[in-house]
Amino acid sequence: MAKYVMALDQGTTSSRAIIFDEFGGIRASAQEELRAIYPQPGWVEQDPEEIADTQLAAARGALARAGLEAGDLAAIGIANQRETTLVWERETGEPVGNAIVWQCRRTAPLCEALRDGGSAEAVREKTGLVIDPYFSGTKVRWILDNLPGAQARAERGELLFGTVDTWLLHRLTGGRLHVTDVSNASRTLLFNIHSLDWDGDILRELRIPRAMLPEVRRSSEVYGATDAQALGGAVPLAACIGDQQGALFGQACFARGMAKNTYGTGCFLLMNTGEQPAPSQHGLLTTVAWGLPSGTTYALEGSVFVAGAAVQWLRDELKLIASASESEALAGSVPDTGGAYLVPAFVGLGAPYWDAEARGALVGLTRGTSRAHVVRAALESMAYQTADVLRAMEADLSGALPELRVDGGAAVNDCLLQFQADILDAPVVRPQGAETTALGAAYLAGLAVGVWNDPEELAGQWREERRFEPRMDSTERERLLAGWAKAVERARGWEGA
Ligand code: ADP
Repeated sequence: MAKYVMALDQGTTSSRAIIFDEFGGIRASAQEELRAIYPQPGWVEQDPEEIADTQLAAARGALARAGLEAGDLAAIGIANQRETTLVWERETGEPVGNAIVWQCRRTAPLCEALRDGGSAEAVREKTGLVIDPYFSGTKVRWILDNLPGAQARAERGELLFGTVDTWLLHRLTGGRLHVTDVSNASRTLLFNIHSLDWDGDILRELRIPRAMLPEVRRSSEVYGATDAQALGGAVPLAACIGDQQGALFGQACFARGMAKNTYGTGCFLLMNTGEQPAPSQHGLLTTVAWGLPSGTTYALEGSVFVAGAAVQWLRDELKLIASASESEALAGSVPDTGGAYLVPAFVGLGAPYWDAEARGALVGLTRGTSRAHVVRAALESMAYQTADVLRAMEADLSGALPELRVDGGAAVNDCLLQFQADILDAPVVRPQGAETTALGAAYLAGLAVGVWNDPEELAGQWREERRFEPRMDSTERERLLAGWAKAVERARGWEGA
């Protein structure tokens, strides 16, 4: 029996394909860059053909590098950039325009109108989300409003909506599938996370015809098989998962209370909250983690807008460092920041503050504040912001975090992770192999076709590379956290002041 599983990791900046063996080891991978299009300030688009073409090229490239053929693959799983919105013709499969990327802010006025109309509470209760341009629903509305005749065509069932998973499944099957999974559906603003179905009231309010919407399936099941043209043979398409939920699965966070943090440009924190959606009192999102035959798992999600980007800022704007990796040695050359704090609220503050008027602040400076202190303050700011979100999650769940599993580009930084453990007073654990998102998709696909039997088996495969134990005493931790809270206060409401 074929024992390899291929993950398609369709991200915002690249399309990647990774082939895993039955032990979760990487056999081969390939990557193609993907362009973003910026038609006006605040707008972000991508070419749907380019999304599909780069993904297919990556998949073929990975097979070639591995010296494998389609028949050697037991299944394919997709992990994808979330919320990005596409509309295409049912008949021809032709996109009606570019994909509107999750980052695109063009529907801000529409969102404001919806909030002013009093929809926020109901939408939050049903979808677990806040009304924001980030999510797909208002992007679909925008397309129907701005493409001549689109509303009528959509009502006649001639147009189809999909997120990137749905688009790839459609293309890989020669147009036979119009399917998404519960994790991707839960990011559309159109999906009721309690009934696990599209929400009739929200569809009516946004005037989005149900006929446009994909069928919602589990994250792990065989949806269909690839067209022979795609990879030279039929391979079962057996998983779809939003990228952040994929990382949560790839980190084997299968039990309630387990959490992962991805340190990239920003941070994405997700905590498994078990079989019931956990409403947040602290500005977090409630989302579907994944759907398995055994049931649906939910998560709380919080994001930090500026994390690794603060290190880029030190490098590109302040020119304090020549490379991101230099930050580690420099920060490690001093025992602390000498009382300095950087609050990198360059674009406001996300969870749990939700302060759009906050701006960056560098405070607590003295004549002795050095380059190393400032660089250290930037690294520590990632840890403080993460701690703020995790404390909000713990408060929502009334439970303490057992450990934090980490990944992403900045998780290579030991100095950051040690400080993270210290400030959280919980172990921080970095796994072997950094490809947690792709691994999550591969695991889900492999589960569907019997490469693996159950999540317990996968949990047994997960290997830690390094564990950072907290070793700061509580007086010191409280002192530092009090300083951080004071620094955040200084940064808040700056624009409005
Ligand atoms: P994204 O997926 O958001 O593009 P990545 O996961 O590739 O991000 O991580 C890149 C980010 O990590 C950059 O913002 C960079 O500044 C930061 N970074 C990379 N290496 C280090 C390091 N050694 N120490 C701290 N930050 C780092």
